[in-house]
Amino acid sequence: MNKSRDSINISQRVLHWFDHSGRKNLPWQHDINPYRVWVSEIMLQQTQVSTVIPYFIEFMQQLPTVEDLARASDDQVLHLWTGLGYYSRARNLHKTAALICDEYQGKFPNTVEQLCQLPGIGRSTAGAIVSIAFQLPAAILDGNVKRVLARYHAIEGWPGQTAVLKNLWHLAEAHSPKQRVADYSQAMMDLGATLCTRSKPDCPRCPLKQDCIANQQASQAQYPGKKPKKILPVKTTQMLIIKNTEGELLLEKRPPSGIWGGLWIFPQINQHDDASEYCQAILGQTPKRLERWDNYRHTFSHYHLDISPTVITLASTPSLVMEADRQLWYNPHQPATIGLAAPIKQLIARLPNDLSN
Ligand code: SF4
Repeated sequence: MNKSRDSINISQRVLHWFDHSGRKNLPWQHDINPYRVWVSEIMLQQTQVSTVIPYFIEFMQQLPTVEDLARASDDQVLHLWTGLGYYSRARNLHKTAALICDEYQGKFPNTVEQLCQLPGIGRSTAGAIVSIAFQLPAAILDGNVKRVLARYHAIEGWPGQTAVLKNLWHLAEAHSPKQRVADYSQAMMDLGATLCTRSKPDCPRCPLKQDCIANQQASQAQYPGKKPKKILPVKTTQMLIIKNTEGELLLEKRPPSGIWGGLWIFPQINQHDDASEYCQAILGQTPKRLERWDNYRHTFSHYHLDISPTVITLASTPSLVMEADRQLWYNPHQPATIGLAAPIKQLIARLPNDLSN
């Protein structure tokens, strides 16, 4: 690393900027402890601060300690996560809380190595817990910090590639100070989130502007390098939005692992299967009314799912045949404490307010 771009100088400038311009009133910046830092870091992965704030507040009200989280049901945890997406994060939080209670007597370990052994905790999240909650030296490299470092040093390549990531970690470690480690971690995340933003970096206000290579070369948009594009395959399914005479909707629980694991969804059949036949076979009656909606596309990281929703109105309210914990009638106006898959939440929002027949 060039002497004129020395790390102490960088951390001092970033900390100085943080002191007068950094955010200090985010909910997870109060009552700091490892549990709160951990939950906030997991929620903030791939998710904007403004989206996370209400989820974090509600989560902490319902489950204020790691013991509360360990004791909660999977439905309660997924319910608190509904709408945040990437549900494996919530399932891993739940598993890790149980491990911390069972194997660490409810106390979080304070080293990056130990934390990285726990489900869902990667090196950057571990670094954030160690530096912010324990105030011990540890580097972080979340998406915001990757962007700042890639631009500042003009690092070519997509950070998903091992060599690029290794280089960024090396820089993150080299820049991390030994003092004020908690503030430095917060400051770097903040700098990336508020100034060095993806599409409109505010370089004139940045404490690194004088020797940031991307700023000097006006090449901010090139860094970090983009993920190589791949064409996602398209799968199809038909979802049956079945309404009973009470205005309730039939939901089924997915198995604990796989797509939407542990979440509740509308019954699914193949796109070209007959919805009336399905109702007759499963509920013992043919629909009173049946309406097809336009396709709705939900995109996973590895494929698109084109959903054909069919809204089915029943003439009565049949009893359910599956075990009670796998199937339920859901009242959108008095929602049960369960986790809903994102497209289910969005399809429910498209239904008229009055669901009575
Ligand atoms: S000068 Fe601009 S591109 Fe460089 S780190 Fe600051 S905001 Fe990002």
